[in-house]
Amino acid sequence: LVEVQQELKVEMEKAKEADKLKSSFLANMSHDIRTPLNAIVGFAGLLQEDDDKESKNEYISLINSNSELLLRLVNDILDLSKIEAGAVQIAENEFDMSKCFADTVSSVRSKVPAGVRLVENNPYNECIIYSDCQRISQILTNFITNAIKYTPHGTITVSYVYENGGIKIAVSDTGIGIPEEKQHRIFQRFEKLDNFAQGTGLGLSICKAIADSCGGKIGFNSREGHGSTFWAWIPCRKK
Ligand code: ADP
Repeated sequence: LVEVQQELKVEMEKAKEADKLKSSFLANMSHDIRTPLNAIVGFAGLLQEDDDKESKNEYISLINSNSELLLRLVNDILDLSKIEAGAVQIAENEFDMSKCFADTVSSVRSKVPAGVRLVENNPYNECIIYSDCQRISQILTNFITNAIKYTPHGTITVSYVYENGGIKIAVSDTGIGIPEEKQHRIFQRFEKLDNFAQGTGLGLSICKAIADSCGGKIGFNSREGHGSTFWAWIPCRKK
């Protein structure tokens, strides 16, 4: 009986913890959705009242950037909750990882600013695996977009390799790095360590949710002022 009581207590603690997490998630979410929405409503109102051409253009561009942010936020939240609810299964399609990798890198290449070099390490001419190109590409895109955001100059190196029965992707940068005391918060939802950079704070949470949902692994190491390396390993069969 004592054992059962003990187990019950542990389960209750877990449920309480989950409930707390859910509440803070909702509180965060309403704040993060309201901020761009308020900006859109506010500037749309000003747009009607103000006759000055220059001010109008400024309001329009603020409405545009906030709409984009809001759209990304809603998409990210829906995506994250779908993955976490188990509604999204990582597909097991046959595809060429070498091509998936090259296509992903070239789709973000135009965002790389002058002064930053993007190096692509594609070790195989062909690498046929059974997995989900779209999800692997999503993780890779998130890593690269972050690297671009936090690397004012230097090099971003993107690579992948088939090892230990899975695909391991990695993105290294010579950017600003992450202070040690903030590193434990990196994969938390809505965690943005810098308020100057645009983002929802959900990108890495989504990457982690994808990796977790298929028994994969995700991690990083970083030194403030020197750069970071983010990696993910997704288990899959190789042809
Ligand atoms: P966001 O969508 O806001 O970029 P992420 O979940 O992708 O959110 O990232 C969370 C935080 O982790 C970022 O706000 C940033 O502070 C930090 N971060 C992520 N990648 C890097 C990187 N390559 N270099 C430095 N900091 C990073």
